[in-house]
Formats: sequence, structure tokens, C-alpha cells
Amino acid sequence: MSSVKDHGKAGPSHALKDHRELNQNHFYYHLDESVGAGLPLWLPAGVVIREELEKLMKELEFLAGYQRVVSPHIAKEELYYQSGHLPYYEESMYPSMNLDNVRFRLRPMCCPHHHKIYASQLRSYRDMPLRLAEYGQVYRYEGSGALSGLMRVRGLCQNDAHIYCRRSQVKEEILKVLKMYQEAYRILGISKYHLRLSKWESGESDKSQKYVPFPEKWQWAENVLREVLIESNLPFVEAPGEAAFYGPKIDIQMESIHGKEESASTVQLDFISAERFDLSFINEAGEREHPLIIHRAPLGSHERMVALLIEAYQGALPLWLSPEQIRILPLADRHIEEAEKSRLLLHNSFMRVRVDDRVESLSRKIAEAWQAKVSYVVIIGDQEIAQGCVSVQERGQRKAEKMEASKLRDMLLEKIKRRS
Ligand SMILES: [Zn+2]
Repeated sequence: MSSVKDHGKAGPSHALKDHRELNQNHFYYHLDESVGAGLPLWLPAGVVIREELEKLMKELEFLAGYQRVVSPHIAKEELYYQSGHLPYYEESMYPSMNLDNVRFRLRPMCCPHHHKIYASQLRSYRDMPLRLAEYGQVYRYEGSGALSGLMRVRGLCQNDAHIYCRRSQVKEEILKVLKMYQEAYRILGISKYHLRLSKWESGESDKSQKYVPFPEKWQWAENVLREVLIESNLPFVEAPGEAAFYGPKIDIQMESIHGKEESASTVQLDFISAERFDLSFINEAGEREHPLIIHRAPLGSHERMVALLIEAYQGALPLWLSPEQIRILPLADRHIEEAEKSRLLLHNSFMRVRVDDRVESLSRKIAEAWQAKVSYVVIIGDQEIAQGCVSVQERGQRKAEKMEASKLRDMLLEKIKRRS
């Protein structure tokens, strides 16, 4: 299973729940027959997690020189003939829609849109590498038997980007991408995964029909990826017949709680799309040159990454990812006003906090807070009010600690900022 730092706390594997079971208590998403199989509706708790992940990646990508773009969920069918998704990827695509006698398709990938953004301006070698990023919604057909909660869906939002670069820049750019996903995984506490060099399959097999031809180019691209993996001392396995139709890739493989291997992240080297889209830049000699294209998604899709994370943490997410970070428990009615003041103090610093003011025993309220995987419980009674402080207990710790509410705020803000 996907392992995280404090995974040991979750107990023996037979007690572990998969994300669909965890969802029954924590309400991350909802699947509704009348919306459609594999098309999750994200509930507030799930949206907190995906937005925090998105914030993390936007920061890492900003620091790494990416520029953000936004593109629509559909395009004319002819765009996908140009890209090669038709026919190579057709079995994963939704059927066409007819609008004013023009045929459209829901997009299965963002790449063709991004290629058109690249082509919207004249590019120079000085613009290279050009890194265009988007958390992009895509739609893919999965057989109904394969659908599974958030892990396998028919509509997903990808941590997507395309890097347009020169041949001499390819290795360095792929290395940077590998470093970026390692950094993201470190922050997320994910340590158990392995890398797979996903190659094409040549010859007369059925699988070879899934790929664009040009054996020498496949060979070259696979060698580039292999060299990068060897140079970065990352152990990997090689898998024929697992490439994208436009080029080989490095996939980062994780396991679900049931031991099923899933691709969580990917880096792909595309040697064909620049020619298909006639993408170019002007080189030092004033000539037109095709760029190479790297497709990458360090956090894969929100759907699968959130499923893997909530399984790995069994719902007990770190503070910065936690849908409910703090629950305040007033001991009696007369403490509610003070509890509300503390709530506002934390809320106004953008923390996810609520007051449990039900008439219920303290021990029961605390037990329920831990079951809900809240990160911190704050207790306010006569003693705390007299001393001008609150009692704070962190999930997994035995003892509560007294401190001023403003000190608690500063301490939590610092932890959230460090994503620790
Ligand atoms: Zn792509």
C-alpha cells in the first residue's frame, strides 16, 4: 500500500479501510447515478484536499518557472485528428457531439489545447524552455467494471503541464521534473513507490497499433529517459506496451490499499506532436526548429492522488491538508461566547475550525473529534477563561497543553506554512 511517515499508527493491514469506506464517514465525494458512473461530485471536505494540493503545485511550479494557462473542456474533433488522439486514443474518448454541424469531443488530455497556445505566438530560442501549466479537467472512458470510487473515474482533473524545449535541454528538464515530484512526495510524506520506464511495443502485436510509428525515434526517446533515470540513481523497472501513443514515459507507481498498482505521476517525452502541430521556434541562425515536448503530471490527477492519500493516511491527514483542522469544545453553555471568540481568531487567519456546542459529555465530544480525524482539539472552561488561555491537544498526543489563543494561532500558522 502507499506508505506515509506515520503509517504504522494505522494498525495491521486487515484493519485498513480503502478510500470508498473512509468516504462513508468523512464525506469527500459523492457518486450519483443521475449524474453518471465515474463522475464524482466533490464535497467540501474533498475540495479542501484538492485545493491544498493545487496550491502546493502552483507554488512549486511558479518557483520552477512555469506559466499558467486555462483552456476549455471540449474542442473540435479535427483537433484530435491532428494530435493523433483519433484514432490512437479513440477507445478512451467520449463520442462526438454535433453542434451547428460541427463535431466536438470532450477532451481526454489538455495537450492539444496547450500546443495551440504555444502556436499562438512566434517563439524564439530565447523562450525555450517554455513551460505551460494547467490543472485541467479531462474526460476518459473507463469500462464500467473498472470504475472504482475516486481511483478510476471518467472525469478527472490533472496536474498537467507541457514543457517545450530544445533537444539540448531535454535531459535537464526531465531531471528537474523528477526533482519536483520528489519534493512534492516528500512534503506529502509519500515514501513507498517505484518508477517504471513505460515503453512502446514494436512488431506486429495488437499493442503496437496503439503507437505512432518511427522506431528510431522511439529508441532515441526511450534511451533519453533511461539515461536520466540512471544518472539520477533512481531504481526503475522497464515495461513494454505501457507508453503513451506519442512517446515513452516514466511512470511513478503506487499501490492502493488493496495492493493494486496505479500510476500516480508521469513524465513523458513526445517526439511527434511538434511536427503534427507544426510547432516551431526561431533558432540562433534564424531558422525554424521544432521543439521537443515533455508532458508531465507530478501529482497525477486530483481524483487518484486524493484517493491514494486518504488511504495512506487512513483519513488522518497532516494539519495543512486536514479538512477540519481544529475543533473547539466549550465545557458548558457559559463558555460558548469565549469559544466563538477563539473560533473567529483562527477562522480569520484562514484556518478550518468549528465549535462543537452540543449538550454532550466532554469525553464523547473528544472521542468524536478524533474519529473525525480533526488535527487539534481545543477545550475552553472556567479555568481556561480565568487564566486567559485555552487547552490544546494534538491528535495522537496524550496530554493537552495550555496556551493563549493568539499563541495557538501563531503556532498553527507556522506549521501550516511549513506543511509539517
Ligand atoms: Zn499532455
